[in-house]
Amino acid sequence: TADTSRNFFHDLNAQQLAAVQHGVGEQAGDTRPLLVIAGAGSGKTNTLAYRVANLIRSGADPQRMMLLTFSRRAAQEMEQRVGGVLQKALGLAPTQSLPSLPWSGTFHSIGARILREYAARIGLDEAFTIHDRGDAEDLMGMVRHDIGLSETKNRFPLKGTCVGIYSRVLNTREPLHKVLQTVYPWCAQWEAELKRLFGGYVEAKQQQNVVDYDDLLLFWAEIMAEPALAQEIGERFDHLLVDEYQDTNRLQSEIILSMKPTGQGVTVVGDDAQSIYSFRGATVRNILDFPHQFAQPARIVTLERNYRSTQPILAASNAVIEQARERHAKNLWTEKPSAHRAQLVLVPDEAMQARWVADQVLQQREAGSTLKSQAVLFRTSTHSAALELELARRSIPFVKFGGLKFLEAAHVKDVMAVLRFAQNPRGRMAGFRVTQLIAGIGQATATRLLDAMAQAADPATALQAFEPPAQARGEWSQFVTLYAQLRDPAVAWPADLELAKAWYLPQLERIHDDAHVRKLDVDQLVRLAAGYGSRERFLTELTLDPPQSTSDQSGIPHLDEDYLILSTIHSAKGQEWKCVHVLNVVDGCIPSDMATGTSDEIEEERRLLYVAMTRAKDHLYLLVPHRFYVTQQGAGGDRHMYAARTRFITDGTLANFEQVTWPQAQEGSPTSARPATPVLQVRDRARAAWR
Ligand code: ATP
Ligand code: MG
Repeated sequence: TADTSRNFFHDLNAQQLAAVQHGVGEQAGDTRPLLVIAGAGSGKTNTLAYRVANLIRSGADPQRMMLLTFSRRAAQEMEQRVGGVLQKALGLAPTQSLPSLPWSGTFHSIGARILREYAARIGLDEAFTIHDRGDAEDLMGMVRHDIGLSETKNRFPLKGTCVGIYSRVLNTREPLHKVLQTVYPWCAQWEAELKRLFGGYVEAKQQQNVVDYDDLLLFWAEIMAEPALAQEIGERFDHLLVDEYQDTNRLQSEIILSMKPTGQGVTVVGDDAQSIYSFRGATVRNILDFPHQFAQPARIVTLERNYRSTQPILAASNAVIEQARERHAKNLWTEKPSAHRAQLVLVPDEAMQARWVADQVLQQREAGSTLKSQAVLFRTSTHSAALELELARRSIPFVKFGGLKFLEAAHVKDVMAVLRFAQNPRGRMAGFRVTQLIAGIGQATATRLLDAMAQAADPATALQAFEPPAQARGEWSQFVTLYAQLRDPAVAWPADLELAKAWYLPQLERIHDDAHVRKLDVDQLVRLAAGYGSRERFLTELTLDPPQSTSDQSGIPHLDEDYLILSTIHSAKGQEWKCVHVLNVVDGCIPSDMATGTSDEIEEERRLLYVAMTRAKDHLYLLVPHRFYVTQQGAGGDRHMYAARTRFITDGTLANFEQVTWPQAQEGSPTSARPATPVLQVRDRARAAWR
């Protein structure tokens, strides 16, 4: 009715409303694809949620909507927002169940589902397991060794680099020689060898019935290249909606196009000024080309009002992005006035930076901002080390995103490998890992076993029949029993995980001195299991979008506890906090020393700073330590560096910031001799290259 309509829409501004109503209801005749291109905090994600809710309200079937987000967390948040809007619009009681969106998730997790469903039609064994980046590198290393490239050619690229090249070729759809030339020139001499290596790698994946991240997109695209399948899959979905479209790659845009060649039902939202994943093959061309890719031109909606940040924060962020080499024509304005300018806080070193941030966080908490409404952002995961110590010392609880992943811990990998090996007996990486956990079984025996399994028609039977060395017999038979249980369809999820854990704990105690600490992570894994319907789902989802720390939200024992968020800038995408602290806003960190190769890279670093700054709603602090530690692999180890304010905040834009020097110079104190503004030193060289 008109009444609920007014209720439903009254929050939205005219442009947002246009996006929400496009092609719906009275406008059903307008079948153009929709592009919402707009700056940070202008309500893109919010508008997408309203659009989904409006579609559902107008009779669209949530089962027939595909909603692609950049993380599982973002997908869950989206589902909640949609639910909230619907509740309001339909006047539902909070207890009434809301429609769920079964096809919401990342490109990769949706890809995994499509592959699983269509496996038989494309010659894939549906029991396939997914290799994470670590597995992919290990397998690449193994193949490289097998074809004799590692020993003989001692300057051959590292396995991680090989995976990087391989992945880039697939995701950008560019030929190997071009990728080598433009991104990995120092590897160009190995083109022929790399080709051979990648051929072997692809074959190994096939033999072992594993797929890697890239395959999830590649095979999905390949399915879509088959007209009959493309039609079948395309017709299953009425709506295809993508958030953060600026960070998709070529393969992903091909998938969208092949799902909906007419563009009808396609909605993408994004901000070209926030594109920060080109190092993974994402291309801002996707968003720029979108208007003319489909059978009909797209409708373009731009949003100009920022609802997130105060005026001074917006002014400071705009000052950074306005100087971008490529102009992003956006006129963001806000109605949130504030007397607080963004602060540029000059501190002597990282230890003082940590102290200042901890002080400030507590002050803000006293002033009414919970810890959860504050975040500390940094360019690289290691930048938060000093702060983590300081927070621990003061017992300030925090959760860190984007750091060492929970799944990267050896013992967590072990348990996952047990499940994987049961799921897919041909997976050699998991097989190697698991069998060598057994006392008395080493590399030679493991190889013998896996070879026997690889050659057998039924690898699981070959495992049962295997004769281990005499000293391993007792342990081996226990494992064989476990393996049979894990393969038994009657043993339901997560009982199989409990069995795997029971088998694993004694091995853990034998192998590690700190088993009691590691056991906590294994317990954590069991707790996480409850959130997944099946072993396959558990393995897939956790591999694709792992919890980012041992205390990730999905696994925090006391969810209602207050804690500070620590996050890399990349992982903070799309989010917002009342107070944001950005660490190490100095040349060498932002832009990172690792990224000063080309001007494209520098520009991406500028956008990264812009993303960081635009996360803040009310208070923004940029920390500028005068001195910081760097870890330089293979270049003399850790050392001090003298740093200067990031080049992205030029003298001309300083008026947008309030400069604070801390601690205040006091007579007789050791800091009194320090100049108020950092002096340019070591960074000059890197800078000079860009002048
Ligand atoms: P980003 O580019 O960082 O992803 P975004 O464009 O997706 O940002 P949102 O996260 O959707 O922006 O919205 C930013 C904030 O503005 C949120 O707190 C949201 O609730 C609020 N907001 C959006 N639209 C409106 C509106 N019409 N009225 C009031 N608040 C709004
Ligand atoms: Mg967003």
